[in-house]
Amino acid sequence: MRNLMTIVVPCYNEEEVLPLFMEAIAPVRATLAGSDGSPAAGNMPLCDTEIIFIDDGSTDNTLGLLRRYNTEDPSVHYISFSRNFGKEAGIYAGLERSKGDYVVLLDADLQHPVEYIVKMYEILSDSTSPDQYDSVAMYRADRKGEGIFRSFFAKRFYRMINRISKIDLVDGATDYRMMTRKMVDAVVSMEEYNRFTKGIFNWVGFNTHWMPYHNVERKAGKSKWSFGSLIKYSFEGMFAFSTTPLTFSFTLGLIFCLLSLIFAVVVVIRTLIWGDPVAGFPTLFCMIMFFGGVQLLFLGIFGQYLSKMYLEVKKRPKYIIREKDDEKAAVDKNI
Ligand code: UDP
Ligand code: MG
Repeated sequence: MRNLMTIVVPCYNEEEVLPLFMEAIAPVRATLAGSDGSPAAGNMPLCDTEIIFIDDGSTDNTLGLLRRYNTEDPSVHYISFSRNFGKEAGIYAGLERSKGDYVVLLDADLQHPVEYIVKMYEILSDSTSPDQYDSVAMYRADRKGEGIFRSFFAKRFYRMINRISKIDLVDGATDYRMMTRKMVDAVVSMEEYNRFTKGIFNWVGFNTHWMPYHNVERKAGKSKWSFGSLIKYSFEGMFAFSTTPLTFSFTLGLIFCLLSLIFAVVVVIRTLIWGDPVAGFPTLFCMIMFFGGVQLLFLGIFGQYLSKMYLEVKKRPKYIIREKDDEKAAVDKNI
């Protein structure tokens, strides 16, 4: 039996780039299926492909295009959300729905060069290799075309999260990766609401082969990430995969308590022995400000975890589907 590969593509307002994507992916699918006449590279087993697009509540004509692609080619599927739920929810929906023995995840904007799909598949499907990889992940070898500001903070983020959490993220890691069925099932089994997919891929373990590629510009349309949303995303990552900030706040709180006790003792002794008047309105003012600040900061840290727990406890669905292609097919049949 031939292998099946699922290509999962989250899309949010991508009407400009989708036709380019379809054009670029067609030869890759043909090579995998061995239908382009070229002998499949090496001993690579031939492989059928299906595409699952996740329309993440787009407000442009993305859904219209997806409907058309589905009509033209039934191996192109789509799931359309009732509103924008974010890329992480899109990824989850795609992985959950995927049927392939191999699943590849990539962006619609062609920033993840599609040629690598064949290479990734060769590595994963090579049963003679002693490494037996379960996943091939792409990382950006450079940050060309990215603002200095953005790369500076991105680098700091990777260093920080590797230090304070048990997971180990590669600097420049992207969401572009291919996985075997086993690994996809493991990722789908992690049902948390606050999803930081890069951390989840790492947390589930398995053997990952890292492959570098050079950053390319988006082919059309605009990036959905502002600098602010990236900062928010990095905090999500930290709070989802590390409890170090909690320990940190506890330790610092303890140190301050001890310090203030020692300080109180010093003041009492000084007054009793030397009769010093308790001087220093400025000192007091600084102390109050400082401790007020520290308390607010740590309340904030607690609040972060509490809010995450609140959302987990409510067990809200990660996404809501408004339309998907198999339902459309069912409706067509009823007519
Ligand atoms: N995306 C999504 N939902 C969102 C934001 C983005 O599904 O809320 C998709 C988007 O359509 C694209 C991918 O995620 O396929 C990466 O987005 P983008 O290119 O805007 O991010 P960047 O490459 O700038 O990090
Ligand atoms: Mg992009």
